[in-house]
Amino acid sequence: MAQQGRGRGCGCLLVVLALAAAAAFGVYFKLYRPKGPRLPSASGGELQVHVLDVGQGDAILIIAPDGKAALVDAGDAAHASVVRDALNRYGVQHLDYFVATHPHPDHIGGAADVLKTIKVLNVLDSGIPPPDFEESAATPAQNAKGKTKGQSAKPTPKPRASKAQLPTTKTYTEFRAAVQQSGAQLVHVAPGQHYDLSSNGDVRLTVLAPIPPPFTKDQMRAGGNEPNANSVVLQLDYGNFSLLLPGDAEAQTEQRLLSTNANITARILKVAHHGSKYATSDEFLRHVKPEAAIISVSEFNPYGQPAQSVLDRLKAAGIKLYRTDLQGEITLTSKGDDYEIKTMKETKGDLYTGRAGTKDDSARSGFIAYGDFGPPPRQPKKTSGQR
Ligand SMILES: [Zn+2]
Repeated sequence: MAQQGRGRGCGCLLVVLALAAAAAFGVYFKLYRPKGPRLPSASGGELQVHVLDVGQGDAILIIAPDGKAALVDAGDAAHASVVRDALNRYGVQHLDYFVATHPHPDHIGGAADVLKTIKVLNVLDSGIPPPDFEESAATPAQNAKGKTKGQSAKPTPKPRASKAQLPTTKTYTEFRAAVQQSGAQLVHVAPGQHYDLSSNGDVRLTVLAPIPPPFTKDQMRAGGNEPNANSVVLQLDYGNFSLLLPGDAEAQTEQRLLSTNANITARILKVAHHGSKYATSDEFLRHVKPEAAIISVSEFNPYGQPAQSVLDRLKAAGIKLYRTDLQGEITLTSKGDDYEIKTMKETKGDLYTGRAGTKDDSARSGFIAYGDFGPPPRQPKKTSGQR
């Protein structure tokens, strides 16, 4: 009996050990990205992320401790000087990566200027052109690996001079020509890929989306837009610091991300699509679990961004909020453990109060396209006018 008792006790211990091992396994997969190797320990040098104040658009400058740099989007053409000034201010001599999350002018409108201003080694994009883009109008066909090594010796493609071109197609055509002319290597990204921003791999960009096949227009709900839904989604990791960069992803993109085993938890979230009501779902926030969120948006945008519903969700989840429309440029720094967030200016406005659109788009069957309201909104000199 005594032996039997010991035997049962031993069995229980084994069960306990097995459960502990399973729990540890689960924690491992919860805390670390399931695809690819774990990152080496952070070097302790300072990583900087500058969410630039480019009005209605995105431009996020990442400077790794050993000086490698990436720019995720470049704002619209009207704010090219803001990006140029930031590259200058932070002493960025060249960009290891320029990431075009998607072809809309508020993300790549300033890209041609960047490509002409400084050396860019690699341009990363989804490889998904705007719906009415004609390949022959921009660059020669790419090779099977999805890469093209732009050589300045090649003839420079001429952007198609067509009055019928939509603003997005025109901007994308100019962007592709500028990439070709710059000599940067164009790479079409895929989920699971990693791009190192340090020599020992402790600062890393991981591609989470677009997840094939690309969303098509008929898959979009009212107000949805497929270039947005097909945004490149990136995760920046450095030790215990993590930042999710979803471009202008839609709720459908979030659903697709949630259906994979990709780990999308991040301590900081750059809110998708300038705080649009068509993204940042409750379910997505529950999985990302951000401590802080940043919205890059103009105070005079006509699109109703950031949406009150999104701000309510962020507030209810206890997520600290930062906004470029109220606080200007927002800078994150981390030495791989904790992080600090600084803003260019203070605001007396309520960060959790959204903006109303100039027209209701809920009855429309389509997206309010960039340009539907005429020229891009101008950034005024004064900073009041919060609502
Ligand atoms: Zn946008």
